Amino acid sequence: MERRFNPLDLSDHAQGHQISLPVEFVQALTVANSLQEVLDTVSQWIYQLFDAERASITLKEDADYLKIYSISGNKAIPLDFRVPIANTLVGRAFSEKTVLICDDLTKSTKLDGIMLAQSGMNTSMNAPLLYGDICLGTLNVAHNKPSHYKELHALELQCLAHWIGLNISLRLQLKELEYLASTDHLTGAANRRVFTQKILQAIDAFHENGQSFFFALMDIDHFKRLNDQFGHTAGDYVLQRIVAISETMMMSPGKFFRIGGEEFAIIFPEQTEYEPMQFFNDIRETIAKATMDFDGIPISVSVSIGFTTMSTADYAPEPLLRRSDKALYQAKLAGRNRVVMFNGTQA
Ligand code: GH3
Ligand code: MG
Ligand code: MG
Repeated sequence: MERRFNPLDLSDHAQGHQISLPVEFVQALTVANSLQEVLDTVSQWIYQLFDAERASITLKEDADYLKIYSISGNKAIPLDFRVPIANTLVGRAFSEKTVLICDDLTKSTKLDGIMLAQSGMNTSMNAPLLYGDICLGTLNVAHNKPSHYKELHALELQCLAHWIGLNISLRLQLKELEYLASTDHLTGAANRRVFTQKILQAIDAFHENGQSFFFALMDIDHFKRLNDQFGHTAGDYVLQRIVAISETMMMSPGKFFRIGGEEFAIIFPEQTEYEPMQFFNDIRETIAKATMDFDGIPISVSVSIGFTTMSTADYAPEPLLRRSDKALYQAKLAGRNRVVMFNGTQA
């Protein structure tokens, strides 16, 4: 009922067999400018090329799961579904790096086989998306007739999987690079590079459509002392906790940044129902009240926050940074663990 084909054996038996692809397919792949577009293009085209009722693509999610990223046709197994690698047909094609044809899904005891059979599919074929020795996921097609796919289909699907594997691998590497270039390694917060882009965007948006915002700098109080007292690793842990707390309190994503060692920037869009002083105080208070248990040692820590209002005279980040820094200095001077708004008279 299940037939397995080693990708290399398939190629050995190709015997001059040629694969021809629609120009539109190759062109669509060339102009795709995101991983998702590549995956959607591939699933649409394998759906047509294999005369399938359903075509889909999974990529490895973690050690135990694949995730469905794109589907064409029947949605028996929905998008974003996490497919366990154990005890599924796709999981087997993935982990054994073999093309797997199931000729009669109604007899399958595998989770995906059962789900496909329940919505009228009878044959499935899964090919591993290989890049060298690495398996990235699978290409999958299903048909409503039993025993529909033959060895030649397996050869063709695997050929496509090899070809697409390189493309997908490069896209994944690009995504990883973008992530590394924009994320602070220790805390996972957006870094200074992203901050510079986002603050410029916020300034532009303010001048273009009047969306105002408040800008804050937040600095951990006596952090050097905390490091000295509990050690640098404890300090690192506190940084991670402060980022986690602050990010859960942010109401819109992409507005919180680690811009220095123990210094953070916050862009708070103006809104009627939540005053900035209240919002920043809520963050300050939540951090001050949090018990951070490091290796059984309870640590408490506070932050000071200085903030300012975006003004029509601001065309660059510098004046915003300067004003909030002054307010932050006032907060430190006044005893720390407090929020100060720049009022125009702070020297
Ligand atoms: P203040 O209340 O005036 O802000 O005092 P402070 O001690 O927090 O300020 P100071 O600028 O004197 O010290 C900042 C400290 O932050 C010094 C540095 O060792 C620590 N620090 C910066 N980055 C990291 C980091 O990634 N991990 C840890 N553990 N410490 C860091
Ligand atoms: Mg500092
Ligand atoms: Mg500090």
